[in-house]
Amino acid sequence: MSTPSQHPFEMKPETACIHAVRDATHSTGAVGVPIYQSATFAHPGVGQSTGYDYSRAQNPTREHVEKLLAALEGGADALAFSSGMAAIAALMELLSPGDEMIATDDLYGGSVRLFNNVSAKNGVIVRTVDTSDPAAVSAAITDKTKAVFVESPTNPMMKVTDLRAIKEVIGDKNILLIVDNTFLTPYFCNPLALGADLVVHSGTKYLSGHNDTLAGFIVVRSPEIAEKLRLLQKTIGAVLSPFDAFLVTRGIKTLAVRMKKAQENAIEIAHWLEAQAKVTAVHYVGLPDHPAYELSQRQASGFGAMISFSVDSAATATAILSNTKLILFAESLGGVETLITYPVMQTHADVPETERLARGIDEKLLRLSVGIEAAEDIINDLKKAMR
Ligand SMILES: *Cc1c(COP(=O)(O)O)cnc(C)c1O
Repeated sequence: MSTPSQHPFEMKPETACIHAVRDATHSTGAVGVPIYQSATFAHPGVGQSTGYDYSRAQNPTREHVEKLLAALEGGADALAFSSGMAAIAALMELLSPGDEMIATDDLYGGSVRLFNNVSAKNGVIVRTVDTSDPAAVSAAITDKTKAVFVESPTNPMMKVTDLRAIKEVIGDKNILLIVDNTFLTPYFCNPLALGADLVVHSGTKYLSGHNDTLAGFIVVRSPEIAEKLRLLQKTIGAVLSPFDAFLVTRGIKTLAVRMKKAQENAIEIAHWLEAQAKVTAVHYVGLPDHPAYELSQRQASGFGAMISFSVDSAATATAILSNTKLILFAESLGGVETLITYPVMQTHADVPETERLARGIDEKLLRLSVGIEAAEDIINDLKKAMR
């Protein structure tokens, strides 16, 4: 067996999603990546290896999707985990007791739970600041700071961090810039090209794209950090299974068309929401009056398809949640199906109340992950549910 290789030709992102990695591990000509459902691999002889020994260390199907992520994000390497949280938990092991990390104050709820309950117990101090303000990041840096963890746009308030500005604030200090790029995907944004050292993804979302699998990725700029993460990955062991690696590879083949269609729908729905009497605020990066509309265009090629909006009362919010027929009331995002979420009771239920309210996450706030259905059908469903 030989390892899958990145394709040698220059290609546009749409093409790269489909062709960036060619499977070289077999001779059958299979166009779909084979699922190597094997825990272990026999050695040709003493002191010899096919390149694969045991699937916790590496598996050809997982390696294929890892190479694909590395190619799409422009990284030296990428590592696939069993979920986005497994990826973030593994990368936190790069830090030691006494180290400090600065993180965006409007983070995915699961990341907040990890930092508050696990990282804190392990002696890593996580300070949350508004990373959309580079001066606030600068002020929070101490000689113990080892990492800055940015989520952009944020979940659910859609605040955008200027990644080049944060890189400038870090300067030549020995601080890792980590970006959770789940919302924009490598199709719309490549944080490594803007100065990030590590990119993390919940592959559960747009990358797999069909609400049918959990996955997580870390993409790394430097081979040295990649090597440390490889050791952590095989030691801790929360690796992506061969079947799930296949599903994510298949999902990524349609990433470009899904992102384009979901964004087109999101723009239409955000404008429609703005015109509704019961809607008091619409948070969508792709609206020209969003504070980061211009910044987004400087550092990304798209706005994504995540919208949050506030309505006039908690009663209106619960009516919408109870009455949509097409739109599913479910956690998660990034799939072909449009989902509606109630952050206060779902994704952010574990965020302490004072912090939650300070961030604007109250019982009037709803979040939409816009799918790829007809925009007209999604709008009609919201219209009826709002009446
Ligand atoms: C979902 C999500 C995660 C966690 O990923 P899982 O695959 O659910 O473990 C992390 N960050 C963001 C922005 C997410 O949306």
